[in-house]
Amino acid sequence: MKRLGAHVSIAGGIENAPLNARAIGATAFALFTKNQRQWKSPPLQPASIEAFRRNCAEGGFEMRHILPHDSYLINLGNPDPLKLEHSRAAFIDEMQRAAALGLELLNFHPGSHLNLSTPDECLRRIADSINIALDHSTGVTAVIENTAGQGTNLGNRFEHLAALIEMTNDKSRIGICLDTCHLFAAGYDLATADAAAETFREFDRVVGMQYLRGMHLNDALHPVGSRLDRHACVGKGKIGLDAFRLIMQSPAFEEIPLILETPDSDGWAEEIRMLYGLQ
Ligand SMILES: [Zn+2]
Ligand SMILES: [Zn+2]
Repeated sequence: MKRLGAHVSIAGGIENAPLNARAIGATAFALFTKNQRQWKSPPLQPASIEAFRRNCAEGGFEMRHILPHDSYLINLGNPDPLKLEHSRAAFIDEMQRAAALGLELLNFHPGSHLNLSTPDECLRRIADSINIALDHSTGVTAVIENTAGQGTNLGNRFEHLAALIEMTNDKSRIGICLDTCHLFAAGYDLATADAAAETFREFDRVVGMQYLRGMHLNDALHPVGSRLDRHACVGKGKIGLDAFRLIMQSPAFEEIPLILETPDSDGWAEEIRMLYGLQ
């Protein structure tokens, strides 16, 4: 079946995330496992971990349907050696937090070259960061998110994602999360069912559908190719409903988390109902 959810709050404790997901009729969810604006957070308490797992089980959420997102502060491609070291340590901590919760995935943005190195050098640095993090964790797959290509962010081309997978030593623990807003902003058309089908065929050709571990379902405020990362509610932006109908009807997107990161959290329950209605 299709697993729909949203990026829910962990206010009051991480164990509240599955409860918040359940309250909006979700069958999947995303979350931060710490305050995403801070480098350091206290370790998760055993009681909190236990309650998280219990609430997930009672809500019918399997670990493969839960897609934690790392902190926005982390840049695994930072050309500055000290800052890179800082990001790598924080990312290892994120992987270990996910593992402690029993989670199987960790979603992250590849990184930015900040005009201080070439894109190819930056991709190599990101791949080294991934390999280091996989060596320092167990059971969690590193899930690279495609980006809008804003600023000096890499990961806006399928070729970048393929190169990162190619340079990853353990291919059983590397995956991809496709964000529809980022795809569209990066120049991959989704505005008609045909265009969307061609975009996913291209992804399969260059990267491979077998690496797809999750999706972020967001409409886009700006036209195709804008390189601007501005999300809109599903069906209310420049993408429109056709691409989302295709995703909801295609067997290629079964049993992976399909996560809303749309601007109106009060509308998530209705957005989820509407998406299920497209099947
Ligand atoms: Zn993201
Ligand atoms: Zn996203």
